[in-house]
Amino acid sequence: GCRFIEYPTTNDAVYDAMRLARGMSYKAASVNLPLGGGKSVIIKPHGAYDRNAYLHAFGQFVNDLGGRYITALDSGTELSDMDLIAEHTPYVASLSSYNGDPSPYTAKGILRGIESAVEFKLGKAKLEGLHIAIQGLGHVGYLLASYLHKRGVKLTVSDVNVSRLERAQQEFGATVVPTNTIHKVPCDIFSPCALGGVINDITINELQTTIVAGAANNQLAHTYHGELLHKKGILYATDYILNSGGLIFAASKYLKTPEALANQQIDDIAEILLEVFIRSQKENRPTSEIADRIAQEKLA
Ligand code: NAD
Repeated sequence: GCRFIEYPTTNDAVYDAMRLARGMSYKAASVNLPLGGGKSVIIKPHGAYDRNAYLHAFGQFVNDLGGRYITALDSGTELSDMDLIAEHTPYVASLSSYNGDPSPYTAKGILRGIESAVEFKLGKAKLEGLHIAIQGLGHVGYLLASYLHKRGVKLTVSDVNVSRLERAQQEFGATVVPTNTIHKVPCDIFSPCALGGVINDITINELQTTIVAGAANNQLAHTYHGELLHKKGILYATDYILNSGGLIFAASKYLKTPEALANQQIDDIAEILLEVFIRSQKENRPTSEIADRIAQEKLA
């Protein structure tokens, strides 16, 4: 993916890109894709700027890497941006010509992962009657909410975008709470689908959930938050495995593999997570640590 967002400093941008790139490497390895991992960020300037000029320059830069980095959508980029980049390079995985929005596939993978977490932690084969708190009703969060609503889940939601909240109230009968309280809602699953770093020194003591499972990348502010979740008995469905459906879809488009294979790989997210949960329980170590170890074993 390529992010096009503002950063307080260049160091923050570099840190974000490196952390996300590591996540992509682990994600591709975890779900057995024949790819490594990379991520790019374009630092969005404050005030007026020529967006197209940035994207053209970026396209040339991606092309200079000769295929070692394949770009795609991420926060702050649209399919139309990818079309511009593709004027300079073939190394682009999402284009408007084939409806390259990965979000529906990401949401489907998250649903599979949530089903797996619920069966493992709560011993339930169905989601019906559970209460899930979703932070962020964007591309992924909204679709996830619609899938969960169809399965009889009670939803509490928050977003900074009021119209999305109103839609969720009307369509899913969701309860709306302020953005600074969504993580405190007593629920079965807290699903971060907006920002990274939402499990941090403050929120970790305020969670009232049994499972954390959402779309956002880098949900743990620091590695030790994985350990703290484990100690509290909260099952953490590792972000980069749970949200890998979008990468699986983008890879299938880029590598031209059959759609049926991509769908199977998305369904397999449930099994891959289950292996992490079982190993975490057996070894009494956090799921985040076990997932990293499995990815490192595969990479080795
Ligand atoms: P998006 O930008 O469409 O949605 C994010 C939503 O969060 C927006 O509705 C935004 O208004 C809301 N939001 C922003 N700040 C908030 C806050 N403080 N509290 C509550 N809501 C807030 O993004 P997306 O494509 O839905 O992705 C969501 C997350 O999942 C991101 O972290 C992204 O990196 C990750 N992810 C997305 C995909 C994908 O296929 N789109 C794949 C893997 C991971």
